[in-house]
Amino acid sequence: MGFFNAIRQWTETRKSKRIADFELEGTCPNCQGRGFNMLESEIMMGSFNDCTGCRGSGSFSDWAETNY
Ligand SMILES: [Zn+2]
Repeated sequence: MGFFNAIRQWTETRKSKRIADFELEGTCPNCQGRGFNMLESEIMMGSFNDCTGCRGSGSFSDWAETNY
């Protein structure tokens, strides 16, 4: 029954690779460096929230501080 383990491993590898990519670019993985999270419902409401990962700065170092 290694199927689920294989999927989990694949997901973890993808996840860490993605975060490494953001680290290279220096942008927050949560908001892709925009500094806010834009959900479809929030666009409709015309309001944006500051990104909780980087506290609105959009930089990877701020995201790393709050997430490690
Ligand atoms: Zn962010």
